[in-house]
Amino acid sequence: MNFHILTLFPEMVLKGLDTSIIGRAEERGLIHVEARNIRDYTIDRHKKVDDYPYGGGAGMLMQAQPVYDCWKAVREEIVSRRSGSAAAEADDFSADQEQKSDSAAVESAESGNLQDSGRRIRTVYLTPQGRTFTQRDAHDFAQEEDLILLCGHYEGIDDRVLDRICTDYISIGDYILTGGELPAMILVDAVSRLVPGVLHNDTSAETESFESGILEYPQYSRPEVWEGEKVPEVLLSGDHKKVNEWRRVRAILRTYERRPDLLKNLHFKKADRNLLKRVEMTEEEKKIFEKLLQDHMDSDIV
Ligand code: SAM
Repeated sequence: MNFHILTLFPEMVLKGLDTSIIGRAEERGLIHVEARNIRDYTIDRHKKVDDYPYGGGAGMLMQAQPVYDCWKAVREEIVSRRSGSAAAEADDFSADQEQKSDSAAVESAESGNLQDSGRRIRTVYLTPQGRTFTQRDAHDFAQEEDLILLCGHYEGIDDRVLDRICTDYISIGDYILTGGELPAMILVDAVSRLVPGVLHNDTSAETESFESGILEYPQYSRPEVWEGEKVPEVLLSGDHKKVNEWRRVRAILRTYERRPDLLKNLHFKKADRNLLKRVEMTEEEKKIFEKLLQDHMDSDIV
């Protein structure tokens, strides 16, 4: 999978992504991360890429021209790299796209026809005005062969170029950062670990928080006793069924405690009724679990 990051600070994203699991994935050729400097594409002789916003207001805005030219260069390289008819079709589209001056028409072409035929190149603008990034988005993006990530800076980017090139608007949370570089790195990290082979043990991603819609169970490692605190006995039992039952209960109670908003994703199975008897819980936890069973048992199996 190829990530193409359009940014004013390429060294920041490349340095941030060249270590540990993501760095090794790149060395092994499982992913490729390139950072393209938007400034290299400005036609301004002083290498300027920003200007004052029309209508006044604080700060500077990144201009459309360098962003568009940078995106076009990356897109053309992707198209020429992709072989055969797919490349030819995409080229047809790009020629077509150049002729359209009405950005609404371009937008409809990008999100409609291209999406259906699978030919479009997904371009994500990292912005606080986007939908909040989730694990589901990470899975969705991991299906792409190429992903273009656009990082804003200053007050953001001229909206005309965003309308023209972006297929997705993604936020990493309801707060304002100075630039889109950290959000892009977060997205690359979350998506890369879903690319087959990136994690040593691909099943470890499956038990992670959010994969089943709720949080993961608590985990412990050596030593068995640390500062007087013992690892729960059941984890030392070697009984996988018991361990799994304990983990399910703990994952549910942890979600109840820390992220009750996620409980809407909780669906109990018939066998879960036995957990009350089979897994050790405090009296208070039992009450909570009983109530959750009542509220979240799928109606067809009650
Ligand atoms: N004026 C913009 C607004 O109010 O929506 C904020 C611009 S912000 C200071 C500069 C850049 O940082 C944005 O263009 C975007 O790329 C990035 N950014 C800031 N906060 C972000 C967030 N929560 N998620 C994703 N990107 C963010």
